[in-house]
Amino acid sequence: MKTIIEPFRIKSVEPIFFTTREERTEILRKADYNSFRIKASDILIDLLTDSGTSAMSSNQWAGIMLGDESYAGSNSFFKFEDSVRSITAMPFIIPTHQGRAAEKILFTILGGKGKNFISNTFFDTTRANIEFSGAEAIDCVCEEGKHPSIPAPFKGNMDISLLRKTIEEKGASSIPLIMLTITNNSGGGQPVSMQNIRDTRKVCDEYGIPLYIDACRFAENAWFIKLREDGYAGKPVPEIAREMFSYADGCTMSAKKDAFANIGGFLAMKNPELAVSCRNLLIITEGFTTYGGLAGRDLEAIAIGLQEVMDEHYLQYRIRSIEYLTQKLVEAGVPVMQPAGGHAVYLDAREFLPHIPVYQYPGQSLVCALYEAGGIRAVEIGSLMFGKYDTAGKLVPATLELVRLAIPRRVYTQSHIDYVAEVIIEVFNKRNELKGMIITEETPLLRHFTAKLKPVDV
Ligand SMILES: *Cc1c(COP(=O)(O)O)cnc(C)c1O
Repeated sequence: MKTIIEPFRIKSVEPIFFTTREERTEILRKADYNSFRIKASDILIDLLTDSGTSAMSSNQWAGIMLGDESYAGSNSFFKFEDSVRSITAMPFIIPTHQGRAAEKILFTILGGKGKNFISNTFFDTTRANIEFSGAEAIDCVCEEGKHPSIPAPFKGNMDISLLRKTIEEKGASSIPLIMLTITNNSGGGQPVSMQNIRDTRKVCDEYGIPLYIDACRFAENAWFIKLREDGYAGKPVPEIAREMFSYADGCTMSAKKDAFANIGGFLAMKNPELAVSCRNLLIITEGFTTYGGLAGRDLEAIAIGLQEVMDEHYLQYRIRSIEYLTQKLVEAGVPVMQPAGGHAVYLDAREFLPHIPVYQYPGQSLVCALYEAGGIRAVEIGSLMFGKYDTAGKLVPATLELVRLAIPRRVYTQSHIDYVAEVIIEVFNKRNELKGMIITEETPLLRHFTAKLKPVDV
């Protein structure tokens, strides 16, 4: 088999920013060892997130010029609606400025005290919107999904028997909907199989509960189904995507992921009464029903991106580039989450740095080392992000200490990825020199965004 190449050529380029190691040491110190506090212009390769960081195509940029900025009934809205409907077949399609705005509307209406929502794994904004409404968010991911180093084809699957048990425990009438996050972002971008979507649907039918899809990475998930699930190898991706949505009563989506847009999202559903309530709330929070917090040009970019993302040459390149980096790291003995997910590579910082205790944030130490060694920005997904304190003020660590390298769509080439692997391996070979970190300043909520830290011996 020949090399899988980037399925595009480059028409417009953007500089990346070179610094010396000495400069980076100083930048890190001034940024208080928190990658969120580093200026983008001091970063060489930015793998902080794949959200809103995609490169748009020449077609999307042409769409931007065609954007119809009419307040009501914009032509761009109808293009957007047609595009979303061609994939989801949902009758009611509501644009929002981001995925979380769609969640806010949905869970404000369906949530509230005494309500329960179940997912394979809720993404953090989804969980936050549910909990903010007073309801409870419950994750029922399959057992394989809880073990980073055990390979399995569909580690994002719902645990069907745990789902049933949870419904019995909480009572079906307290559960306004069940949601499948596709792919499972918090679980490492791991896919959900079509069989699991069908099985989840069956349970929903038994109990009369609607099924929703968090569709942020629907195309990446469809590609994994094509590659890994019996009976799908010969099916076109748009057909697989349509089948996935055919089992759902509604969906939420962030267009900053699998729609190659820099902003946007939507909420879609089959239930007409719910659609009326959602649109009423949309009008007072986001905007009129045909723009929902977006400019007409954004709706154009999303309409086009949603179709482009299902191109199989693109998906093959996309998924291969994540797998390619994972493979290089595995070959060098670097502990990574396996198998590779759809949008990011996760380093297991606890195994990478066994000499640093969890209360000295090994993940954050690794994030800083990657920046210092090669100008790469990653993010800690461990006890800095999810750790809590007990009543005695002692750290209750997260279950996993991970470092995420999220790969923006169509942005970096194979040589960038080769460089990233080289830097990680260089840091791995000198891992014994890395020091733990302590927090010097933090906020009570979402502290990882703004916390200040320093190495233990400074
Ligand atoms: C990003 C994301 C969201 C939230 O979308 P925003 O556009 O960032 O508000 C929800 N669910 C998943 C799975 C995501 O990855």
